Amino acid sequence: MRAPAKVNLQLSVGPRRADGFHDLTTVFHAVSLFDEITVTRAQGLTIRVEGEGASEVPTDHSNLASRAAVELALRTGVEPDVHVLIRKGIPVAGGCAGGSADAAATLVACDVLWGLDLSRDELSEIGAQLGSDVPFSLHGGTALGTGRGECLTPVLGSGSYSWVLALADDGLSTPEVYGELDRQRDRGPVAVVSDPAEVLTALRQGSPEALGPVLSNDLQPAAMALKPGLRRLLDSGADLGALGGVVSGSGPTVAFLARDDSHANALAAALAGHGVCRTVRVADGPVPGARVVRTT
Ligand code: C5P
Repeated sequence: MRAPAKVNLQLSVGPRRADGFHDLTTVFHAVSLFDEITVTRAQGLTIRVEGEGASEVPTDHSNLASRAAVELALRTGVEPDVHVLIRKGIPVAGGCAGGSADAAATLVACDVLWGLDLSRDELSEIGAQLGSDVPFSLHGGTALGTGRGECLTPVLGSGSYSWVLALADDGLSTPEVYGELDRQRDRGPVAVVSDPAEVLTALRQGSPEALGPVLSNDLQPAAMALKPGLRRLLDSGADLGALGGVVSGSGPTVAFLARDDSHANALAAALAGHGVCRTVRVADGPVPGARVVRTT
């Protein structure tokens, strides 16, 4: 299986709900940075994680892929007998839905392995209980998310976009970033909640030049308060000619939009030389959601 990272081209956050979540309006965009997941028949349920940041990912039942296998097995009355190997290509705790990608891929893979033949809608409904971004990791492409982020509408658009993803040294905890936003809002006037209209118009035009300046994220000030170095990173991207830059989700990964692939490569090299982030990756979007690559 291969499952993509996501960036949020726009993310507006409503007030905290009684259940602790926040209502969102967000434009999700799947990009070509992938986790690879291999499932094999086994006695019981085991998880192994390899690749960058693997040591920070739990391999017990708190792992989102493990929870996905257990939930799918419970729903369908099978035993969760599977070994899940995760090769991380998506930054861990980076705001790019890496854990959700692993859960989405595990749902699709176990559905095939166990011969369940559930529909994408059924898998998505199970995924929504595991995490707000899991349905999008199944869906891929570009989509408008509402509710907690789990209600999806595909976004019509044309063209492909070239991105530079700037990865930070340490991750940020999603609940802590939402908590910081709540505290900022308690302290002062609530910032105007951003609207997806401009992003949707730019996507319809298929124009990176139109999309760059309208990228927005209500969580960005909270992520920047917890990680002040993000300000310098965003400023460097702008100085080096990015069409736009935005913290992805709860961060700290920053997505910079380039004109095309060669501009993205040049921007990535320049950013890497500035010492403002741990490393950079070049990626294209949109790409499909969690998919089977090979069965043996
Ligand atoms: O759904 P997910 O597991 O990604 O959410 C992680 C945490 O992020 C939640 O426990 C909550 O604190 C916060 N969150 C939120 N509102 C959302 C999505 C996530 O407050 N719409």
